[in-house]
Amino acid sequence: MFRTIDALDVKGKRVLVRCDLNVPAKDGKVTDTTRIDRSVDTLKQLSAKGGKVIIMTHFGRPKGRDEKYSQKLLLEPLAKAVGQPVGWADDCIGPEAEKVIAAMKDGDIVLLQNVRFYPEEEKNDPAFARKLAANGDVYVNDAFSTAHRAHASTEGLAHILPAAAGRLMQAELEALGKALQHPEKPVAAIVGGAKVSTKLELLGNLVAKVDYLIIGGGMANTFLFAMGKPVGKSLCEKDMAPTVLEIIGKAKAAKCQIVLPVDGVIASEFAENAANSVVSSDAVPDDKMVLDAGPASAEAIIDRLGGCKTLVWNGPLGAFEIAPFDKATNAVAQWAAERTKQGKLLTVAGGGDTVSALAKAGALESFSYVSTAGGAFLEWLEGKTLPGVAALEVKAGGGCGCGGKGH
Ligand code: AMP
Repeated sequence: MFRTIDALDVKGKRVLVRCDLNVPAKDGKVTDTTRIDRSVDTLKQLSAKGGKVIIMTHFGRPKGRDEKYSQKLLLEPLAKAVGQPVGWADDCIGPEAEKVIAAMKDGDIVLLQNVRFYPEEEKNDPAFARKLAANGDVYVNDAFSTAHRAHASTEGLAHILPAAAGRLMQAELEALGKALQHPEKPVAAIVGGAKVSTKLELLGNLVAKVDYLIIGGGMANTFLFAMGKPVGKSLCEKDMAPTVLEIIGKAKAAKCQIVLPVDGVIASEFAENAANSVVSSDAVPDDKMVLDAGPASAEAIIDRLGGCKTLVWNGPLGAFEIAPFDKATNAVAQWAAERTKQGKLLTVAGGGDTVSALAKAGALESFSYVSTAGGAFLEWLEGKTLPGVAALEVKAGGGCGCGGKGH
């Protein structure tokens, strides 16, 4: 359980808000404002409640103070997004920040300079956390995408000040909770993408939680190879076969059914519009590679999902970047999107290429929730505790989230 900004008294208070405004930029200009736009609800609501809104974020990977990573470039797009001027402090701690914050009026919004100008930030240094905390009365964490890192501004502060989740963090935690912690059953997970080796922990966690584990992409080749099927010159991690058999055993014990492709689209090279044909998964020729799940596999996946209430999706079913090897991903994504619109399926997706694969399929907008949190989303799928989230947990019996350390 975590507290949201609804339960936080912010009127007249200095509210330190950790956002993730690590936006893409070129030549000193922000090139994509998505992260800024997604933070607007939290910032505007805190301002409307009369809080003095003080934004903390990181930008890039500076090693100490480095003007190349100054956050000044965020000011203009931020002001435009929130519809009011945004003040600036050229430091996130110390006299400069203190002076700017002391001059704030209720409802004002100020942006602090890069928290990563101090190496102590990423070390979660308690003295640095206290210096950040000196500028605030309450703390709001709205940066789910950095919640897998225990840094001073993402974790340390929650132990010093009364803490709550911002709207973005709240939406993410609610969606993820509905997908795996207390889902409507049956639950299916689609795990695709290139390699088994990068998703071992994720697969291990999912077999214990879902009713169907649908495997696609390059990693399906590794599963099929482990089961004695031919894979030709497909992307396949042959040395992972014993590990895959372990996962299959674990799934059986947990009564999780693993669904593998029954056919594949094969080609001689990994290239757009390469000559291709469909073969059974039992008959992949030695000189060909499987680049997508075949039509019978897509149909079987859809058939299986037809009986499910919840779907978690990470990784494409084929080499979706190069047509026509995006067909299975598109077909299943479009079906799932339609089913979501009908209110019959809850769909939660995220992690790396999944967002672009769903966007390419035109399915992104219709999914119940698509996480853009990358690493944090994947760690959550792996069943790990995210320190930034754990620090916001309100223990049974209430409390402010300071863990008894006082504030
Ligand atoms: P991941 O980042 O692990 O989700 O992997 C995504 C990548 O897997 C994409 O770049 C796809 O092109 C690639 N991929 C998916 N299926 C295949 C396949 N059958 N053969 C080669 N690459 C694939």
